[in-house]
Amino acid sequence: MKPLELVLVVDDSKVIRSRMKNILERNGYDVILREDGEAGVLAALEYGPDLIIMDLNMPRMDGFTASSMLKRYPQTRNMPIAVFTDENETQRKVDFFGIGVEDFILKDADEAEVTARVGGLLRWKKNRDNLAQENNKLGNIIDILSDLVIIFDTAGKLVFYNRAAGHRFRLIPELIQEKTILEILPAAGKVRDLCRYIDTREEIHDQEVEIDHGETGVRHYMADINRIYIGLSEDVGGAFILRDITGEKEAQRLKTEFYSMMAHEMRTPISVVLGYTQLILDGRAGEISALQQEFLRGVEEKGKVLIKLVNDFLEVSRLENKFIRLDPSVFDISILVTETVSGIRLLAENKNISLTCGCRGVPILLRADRDKLEHVMINLVENAIKYTEENGTVTVRCGVEDGGAVIEIEDTGIGMSGEELKFIFDRFTRAGNAEKKKIKGTGLGLAIVKEIVDAHKGRIDVESQDGKGSVFRLWIPGVVERPDAPAGIVREVEIPVPDMRE
Ligand code: ADP
Repeated sequence: MKPLELVLVVDDSKVIRSRMKNILERNGYDVILREDGEAGVLAALEYGPDLIIMDLNMPRMDGFTASSMLKRYPQTRNMPIAVFTDENETQRKVDFFGIGVEDFILKDADEAEVTARVGGLLRWKKNRDNLAQENNKLGNIIDILSDLVIIFDTAGKLVFYNRAAGHRFRLIPELIQEKTILEILPAAGKVRDLCRYIDTREEIHDQEVEIDHGETGVRHYMADINRIYIGLSEDVGGAFILRDITGEKEAQRLKTEFYSMMAHEMRTPISVVLGYTQLILDGRAGEISALQQEFLRGVEEKGKVLIKLVNDFLEVSRLENKFIRLDPSVFDISILVTETVSGIRLLAENKNISLTCGCRGVPILLRADRDKLEHVMINLVENAIKYTEENGTVTVRCGVEDGGAVIEIEDTGIGMSGEELKFIFDRFTRAGNAEKKKIKGTGLGLAIVKEIVDAHKGRIDVESQDGKGSVFRLWIPGVVERPDAPAGIVREVEIPVPDMRE
């Protein structure tokens, strides 16, 4: 059977004590009686009643002193107290409310009023206890999360942190109210940059940060800062959440290392196969028939595709390992572009694509990494040819803008849809048209291009129309000033494609 709710009545009048005992017991409560404040406090500590009804004036310890003690002790602080008062004791009531007393009962209140007040206070206590229990449950759930959760108020002061956060940042519970979130996070690096969002009250999501925890080492996290609102608009602070991705990063690094090793191992044998193929094609191993020549050209073509694939993998793993180191020199980018384009002209010729390049004869001196930009140009021009159907046009232009070199590669090819353009520089991303037309690729080339452009602090944009063509626009800073440097995009010049059959 459920135990009855327990009410402690503290009053020095025997008449009142026995009247209250009768009323409360009749209405289904257990009752304890005490005749002064001191005995009342002791009984509250011993029995933990659900409600205390307290007289005002009593010998040894009055009701005010006893109530303030009860509201101070953690063990008794949550027991509701109702004080016996007379009609006109307003100031007294204010004082009692000030120390946390919940309600008042008139000494001469009839049975109905006494039970209504007692019932109301006990209901209120039950609701509050339930709420506290729910809060506790929620707190426990947040506590066992492996993510680090730190809740702060509008002034940035710590309000709550879970076990994982306490452990990583070595937080001491007693000091929680003394610290602000800015004090516990490292004073430098990306995490400090994120902290300004705490001041500006902005939200951030999925920002990668690295935090040095001293003896326990450096860890990598995905950080979120969310604001916490009460109702629709009252901002009461925020939650700083860190998801530890150190393990994932390590796995990624190992994977990349594996790719890189595989690619290295594959490159040499493929190069040897290509070398021997070339030797046989050159007639160094004796006469070969036209059919043998045709077959060997097939071997050579596929071998080149394989080498490109392997090189792409190597480039990606180098970039992932942050091996991207620029080796800048001053060179004429218009010559680089022209030479790259003419090196690829055969590809265009095979598809009867008209390839024009508007860079020759206009020197644009640029301080940048020549080899890496050559890689960028080869990728973009090869793509333009690859994704343009027979008899189309590919146009390359160069110029100078805002202290940087601008290169445009425009084609009349298959194009891409607007939505796809947002993701086209992500690794392994291929557009629908390329898949539909069964044009082979890995989706790595543009990711590499973007990394190289970013390393130069440049920009690359693309405009495209589904089925009509695309324009890739590259801007690389670092033009070495010259009085005769041309502004804007320059004219187009047709590069004559030599007839290989001659
Ligand atoms: P790959 O060509 O090996 O698939 P890339 O990273 O070079 O990889 O290109 C990614 C995707 O972007 C391609 O698969 C293709 O769908 C699209 N793309 C790139 N360049 C063009 C272009 N000039 N015209 C149309 N689509 C293009």
